[in-house]
Amino acid sequence: MKLILLGAPGAGKGTQAEVLAEKFNIPVISTGDIIRNALKQQTELGKQAKDYIDKGLLVPDDVVIEIIRERLKQADCANGYILDGFPRTVPQADALEAMNIDIDKVLAIEVPDEKIIGRISGRRQCGECGATYHNEYKQPKQESICDVCEGTLIQRKDDAPETVKQRLEVYHEQTAPLKAYYDQKGILVLAYGQEEIKDTTKEVFKALGVEA
Ligand code: AMP
Repeated sequence: MKLILLGAPGAGKGTQAEVLAEKFNIPVISTGDIIRNALKQQTELGKQAKDYIDKGLLVPDDVVIEIIRERLKQADCANGYILDGFPRTVPQADALEAMNIDIDKVLAIEVPDEKIIGRISGRRQCGECGATYHNEYKQPKQESICDVCEGTLIQRKDDAPETVKQRLEVYHEQTAPLKAYYDQKGILVLAYGQEEIKDTTKEVFKALGVEA
């Protein structure tokens, strides 16, 4: 199963990707996580990406395409994967196709813009392992402490409201056209994001034709 998740920032892609990864026993490949890790480790990629991420802009296509090309060669990708946050532009989608990768389905999670800022303001992430939480919808067992590694939960810098507005604009301009791109190929399915995570998961399974 090779799946692409599309959706605005805060639509719930990462959360649903985790659920699907467990269901299909395949990894989630998140370019955002890979880039954030590089930032933390202060690698060359991290240095290149920092200004873009901080401003809510996309990292240049050639940089992310190389990240994905290398990542998909790894052994854990042999039985499929879920792409969360890639492709984000038409040139990235073209590059994926040029790698001769056959995507089974592209799932777009739809959430209206008015809801995004509120949803994102409650998001938290473990500063150590990257696990994600939400103040309302996905609370940790102990306040501000990661259930997985006991790291401290933080708010992503690019989740600040001004940056989210920019990221939403970028989404509509550069990423939303991918819905038509994949619809033309006959592999696009839509799921509508709900208030509760479990209800969105139901929509996602229905859209993918998967038994809960
Ligand atoms: P995300 O965690 O997917 O919201 O990504 C966070 C940030 O990483 C984005 O706002 C971009 O700056 C960068 N990024 C992640 N994936 C991509 C991509 N496929 N193309 C360009 N930039 C990306």
